[in-house]
Amino acid sequence: MGRINDELHSADEQQPAAVLRAVDKLIQFNERMQHQLNTAEEKLEDQARQIVSHAVEAHTDALTGLANRRAFDSELNRAYRASIDCGAPTLVMMIDVDHFKSVNDTYGHALGDEVLKRLSHLIQEELRPLDHVCRYGGEEFAVLLPNTSIGGAFSTAERIRQSVRRSKFTADKQSLEVSISIGATPLDERDQQYNEALARADKALYEAKQLGRDRVVVSPSRHEK
Ligand code: GH3
Ligand code: MG
Ligand code: MG
Repeated sequence: MGRINDELHSADEQQPAAVLRAVDKLIQFNERMQHQLNTAEEKLEDQARQIVSHAVEAHTDALTGLANRRAFDSELNRAYRASIDCGAPTLVMMIDVDHFKSVNDTYGHALGDEVLKRLSHLIQEELRPLDHVCRYGGEEFAVLLPNTSIGGAFSTAERIRQSVRRSKFTADKQSLEVSISIGATPLDERDQQYNEALARADKALYEAKQLGRDRVVVSPSRHEK
C-alpha cells in the first residue's frame, strides 16, 4: 500500500499512464483486502456457530433432545435463588420408569430407548411452556414447575402418570405396558442448598415405589413435617 502510494506521488503529472497504473494497482490491492476481510468474516461466523452448537450440545440429552442434568441443575439453582429472594412457589418433581430393566430385558435396549423418547413427549405434553423438564439420567426425568402450589403439582403429576398409563407402547406387534412413579416437593427458601429439594423429591419417589409404583407422592417441605 505504501509502495503504491509512493508510486502515485512520484508519478509525473505529465505521465497519465503511470498514474493509471498506480490507481489500477490500488484497486487490485483493495479487492485483495476485501476478499481477505470477507474470508475472515466467514471464518468468524463459522466459529461463532460452532460455539453456539457446542453450548447447546453441552446442555442437551442426545437421546431425547430434552435438557440434560447439567442444564436442569443450573435452572434449579436459579429457581432456588428466586424462592429465597421473592418466595416464588416452585415445585420440583422426579419421575422414574417402573421396572424399566425388565422392559430392556424383555424387548431389548433399542425398544427401551424408544420408550424413553416417547415418554419425553408425553411428559412435555402435560407441561406449560414455563416449566422445565430434563432427562436427569437413565430412566429418570426431573421437572421444575414455577408458580405452582402443592395441589397444582399433584394434578400435573397425576395427569402425566395417567397419560403414560393410557398410552399404547408396542414392540414386535405386542403391546407393552409402561408405568411411572413420581415424587414431588416444593422448593423451600429455608433449605441450605438448592439441591435439597431434589433429595426430598427423590425420597418421595422412593416412597411411591415402596407403596407399589404407578403412583404420585407429594412431600411437604421438610420444615412442615
Ligand atoms: P424400579 O421400578 O425400581 O425403578 O425398577 P427399574 O428396573 O426401573 O430400576 P433399575 O434401576 O433396576 O433399572 C434401571 C434400568 O434402566 C437399567 C438400565 O439398563 C436402564 N437404562 C438406563 N438408561 C437407559 C437408556 O438410555 N436406554 C435404555 N434402553 N435403558 C436404560
Ligand atoms: Mg431409576
Ligand atoms: Mg426405574
